[in-house]
Amino acid sequence: MARVYNFSAGPAVLPEEVLMEAAAEMMDYNGTGMSVMEMSHRSKAYQQIIDEAEADLRDLLNIPDNYKVLFLQGGASQQFAMIPMNLMKNKVADYIVTGQWAKKAYQEAAKYGKANKIASSEDKTFSYIPDCSDLPISDDADYVYICENNTIYGTKFKTLPNTKGKTLVADVSSCFLSEPMDVEKYGLIYGGVQKNIGPAGVVIAIIREDLITEDVLPGTPTMLQYKIHADNGSMYNTPPAYGIYICGKVFKWLKKQGGLAAMKEYNEKKAKVLYDFLDSSKLFKGTVVKEDRSLMNVPFVTGDEELDAKFVKEAAAAGFVNLKGHRSVGGMRASIYNAMPIEGVEKLVEFMRQFEAQNA
Ligand SMILES: *Cc1c(COP(=O)(O)O)cnc(C)c1O
Repeated sequence: MARVYNFSAGPAVLPEEVLMEAAAEMMDYNGTGMSVMEMSHRSKAYQQIIDEAEADLRDLLNIPDNYKVLFLQGGASQQFAMIPMNLMKNKVADYIVTGQWAKKAYQEAAKYGKANKIASSEDKTFSYIPDCSDLPISDDADYVYICENNTIYGTKFKTLPNTKGKTLVADVSSCFLSEPMDVEKYGLIYGGVQKNIGPAGVVIAIIREDLITEDVLPGTPTMLQYKIHADNGSMYNTPPAYGIYICGKVFKWLKKQGGLAAMKEYNEKKAKVLYDFLDSSKLFKGTVVKEDRSLMNVPFVTGDEELDAKFVKEAAAAGFVNLKGHRSVGGMRASIYNAMPIEGVEKLVEFMRQFEAQNA
């Protein structure tokens, strides 16, 4: 078995325990004589899988009873349209643009109503989170939108914006379950699971019940109505059944690690290994304002594109893969999600130290 240290931003590393369990159950899931992939989503065995996944997620995040958990498809990107279609009752929404994903969501919302860009960090290549304590929130805004962790740029909201009483909607794709969240502060939390939870193809939405209504924009497709999915227990049509099963295994793995408070502690310790090195290095530099640094995605550069490329190539040959930065930022990015063991980061830093010595 030749496993690498996979620093991919997504689809990304998953816990080995989960992969091995899934492998062991591939031919015969729990005495059914078939794989979960081959199973009717209306079967008793599958109903138990999705029910347990939801219950474990509710436990992990302490989700209040007046929130629904939906397992959806279409990627996080489909939510960029689904959110305005369902929530824009006044056809007004305020967007805080802290990266490409928030920008795409903002541009999509503008197709359905008045989307206001009330703050942005684009002036400095999205390398910081703007002050959101007193923004010009629109009186008739249906919601305020953020991307809580910016996967490409490596920034994270450490305090939530002051929405002045308006509903907060957050894309948490790349920080989902990396730490505890106060669900009640949000109207809608959603994320594609392929960053920190499971295989691509599943989107989880946690939505307050009063936001789930039939009053959606005219022409909203059936499949893009939260109410349809909520009323049908995420099984209006065939759900991404195998993906949900893997997510469920990851939820159980997270509970075994001690839950999200323990994950936060571990993730902080893990990120510190890399950030401390970047702060002390003469060759490598982090690209993000210190107080806004993400625990999950760590972009860095040498300041020399050729040297960056050399590093990425040599790192891959040494078993540290997918360290190339996003095409819009260049340089490197190490995504160090829940399932990346601290040893992976320690060994990466050791490798970076050697590279620095050899290329000084
Ligand atoms: C990856 C990512 C997306 C896009 O996800 P898809 O599932 O590919 O649509 C959106 N938002 C964030 C924060 C992401 O990291």
